[in-house]
Amino acid sequence: MEALLQKHYNIVTSEITTLDGYISENYKIKTEGEPYVLKVYPFSEAVFEDVMGEVAFVKHVSLNKRQISHTLPNLNGELLTITEQENQKIILRLLTFIEGDFLANTEHTKDLVYEFGKHLGQLDKELKSFKNNALQSRRLEWNLANLELIAPLSEHIFDPSNRKIVEHYISQWRTKISPIFPHLRHSIIHNDANDWNVLVQEDGFGLIDLGDTSYTAIICELAIAAMYIGTGKEDPIEWIAEMVKGYHEVYALEKRELNILYYLIAGRLVTSVCKSAEQAKAQPDKTYIQISENGAWQLLKKWIQVNPLYAQNEFYNACGFEKTIIEETNILIEKRHSLINRGVSISYSNPIQMDSAIFQYMFDKDGHRILDAYNNIPHVGHQHPKVVEAAQKQMSQLNTNTRYLYDSLNEYAEQLLDKFPNSLNKVYFVNSGSAASDLAIRLAQNFTNRENLGVVQHGYHGNTRAGIEISQYKYASKGGRGKSKRIIEATIPNVYRGQYRDEFAGQKYAIDFLEQAKSTSPMAAFIAEPIVGCGGQVPLADGYLRHLYPKLKELGTLCISDEVQTGFGRMGSHFWGFEMHGVTPDIVILGKPIGNGHPMGAVVTTTEISEAFNNGMEFFSSFGGNPVSCEIGKAVLDVIDGEDLMKNALEVGCYKKQLFNELKKDFPVIGDVRGSGLFLGIELIRDDNLKPNTELASRIKNELRMANILVSTDGPYDSVIKSKPPMCFNKDNAEELVDAFNRVLTTKK
Ligand code: PMP
Repeated sequence: MEALLQKHYNIVTSEITTLDGYISENYKIKTEGEPYVLKVYPFSEAVFEDVMGEVAFVKHVSLNKRQISHTLPNLNGELLTITEQENQKIILRLLTFIEGDFLANTEHTKDLVYEFGKHLGQLDKELKSFKNNALQSRRLEWNLANLELIAPLSEHIFDPSNRKIVEHYISQWRTKISPIFPHLRHSIIHNDANDWNVLVQEDGFGLIDLGDTSYTAIICELAIAAMYIGTGKEDPIEWIAEMVKGYHEVYALEKRELNILYYLIAGRLVTSVCKSAEQAKAQPDKTYIQISENGAWQLLKKWIQVNPLYAQNEFYNACGFEKTIIEETNILIEKRHSLINRGVSISYSNPIQMDSAIFQYMFDKDGHRILDAYNNIPHVGHQHPKVVEAAQKQMSQLNTNTRYLYDSLNEYAEQLLDKFPNSLNKVYFVNSGSAASDLAIRLAQNFTNRENLGVVQHGYHGNTRAGIEISQYKYASKGGRGKSKRIIEATIPNVYRGQYRDEFAGQKYAIDFLEQAKSTSPMAAFIAEPIVGCGGQVPLADGYLRHLYPKLKELGTLCISDEVQTGFGRMGSHFWGFEMHGVTPDIVILGKPIGNGHPMGAVVTTTEISEAFNNGMEFFSSFGGNPVSCEIGKAVLDVIDGEDLMKNALEVGCYKKQLFNELKKDFPVIGDVRGSGLFLGIELIRDDNLKPNTELASRIKNELRMANILVSTDGPYDSVIKSKPPMCFNKDNAEELVDAFNRVLTTKK
């Protein structure tokens, strides 16, 4: 190298050190005088053209040779030297050395970030008129326009709960960014103002490495730099907004660019972690390439909790644009009531205008990030990308009904039945828990040729006529028509506030019910939820079903387990609630989590029961078991297993319960903390006689909502806080919930 430098540039080197680099080998050259950078590229026509493009870039902009590396001519006056090294044809390129401290090593101040924004704005303003064929024809993975080149690399990300974040942003990119990206303002930009390519100087900034310079949407310049500015910050948006402000002051941004900046920054994060994951597999020792990986993951995990509307409004604000005005909640409610009956209720004293959601976070139109500690329907997480993708793909391919043959029906049925004991080996697909419970009752009445049905007090099983008839929670409450004569009501086996509270309580409740049933004609079926949800998250007393089921079966009564709330691993310890009770039902009802929000339900039963139902009358559900639903159902099961969500429910659920139990020690108003896995009920009381504290439950629910945390209330007195979050709920989330709960209890009203 020394000899080549001497020969072609007449430079006498005092020291050569290797610098990090991607495509070229880079060296820092110390001389008696000023230092230089030498880049050595393997020769090809294409590389030559490409590097000449970079030279033209530097020529075009007004940055001096201390601010951007200028290429210095060799002794023949040529900017690039073509020569040989160890029989390989190479290109030598000598550059001015840019002094300064890397932005990555500099303490960031708002002022610095603002100035940096201005600097990039100025650069892009000048580049607007720059044209260069070589640079324009670069097809780089690091150009956000080519995010599809990056997408397949996500498979190298080892941890599925990390991978899902990346897949989410890729999915969002496809629907939100791809259609508009080509319409944005384009030009050649530097495209890699990362904090190891930017040098902070006394009076400005230096910029190195034009290796990623590309023709792309101009806003990408800002997005890429913003990613690094946001990294490691408590409030990344605040810092990025400062840079946006500086940039906009010099080179005006358009609203439509600001609208997608949040996703472009996510796109760069995705590129960064995917490339790192790929490199980590290919070259585990190249630390340079992985340098920003940890920071990028931290920011991605933070980014997922940023409401995109909040980001947009902050960026608007930085540029002096009006924030997006949303419709007043009262007006929306009024309109809704003019169209939809008030019986279709709205939660919270201060209802929420929802805009979007991801995993365990929801985002309202006001820009808040809301922790979802309540909704169990988005079981594997709101908008899980695997579920979204499954739906989108199948929706655009085929959606029909069970009268035709298609693979997904058999595949899904097999995958779902695999989760059940061998005796439960037939499935009917419907579209809701209500349709499932209705069908379950039909199956039972058909099989037994009996009418009577046993139900548990405070149980809820659905909104159809049959559903209401078997739901004491409905028929015995406001507006209900009371118990029909076919119904035999079992006292809820509640060990907290029921008649029996000791270790034999389960058996005692069961004996009582069997006694009670003796006086009526035999039942077709007995239906119960393993934890009575609407009844206030009351786990059936231990031993209740274990004692009851065999006796009922002896009487020819079928046992139905309503797993709409308790199924799919939510219990943490078991995949189905009935397994927790050590029993096997004859019929199982599935709903809510089965489709992660897509309207699905299912009834699982034995061959015998389903054969009896095949009595000549066709069973047909227009939508039940359609290919889209089946693909979604498969994806849900894949995610539960792939992300080990049952284990998460167990670990986080235990931790959450422990935190609530600790809180209970300080606040006697917390009477009981109960449930399993990520299915908890916190019962609020007034005194030692367990007088229900309905007002406090309501206050907690509403104050948590104001703190942007979702829970709800239930139970016969509406005095139980229920928390059944998406299964990806984590320990930080549990702490956030319990801390906020603590704050509400601490502030006396
Ligand atoms: N069973 C149980 C235990 C439920 O909680 C529900 C819904 N809350 C249903 C059945 C009815 O399901 P869907 O609302 O899907 O009709």
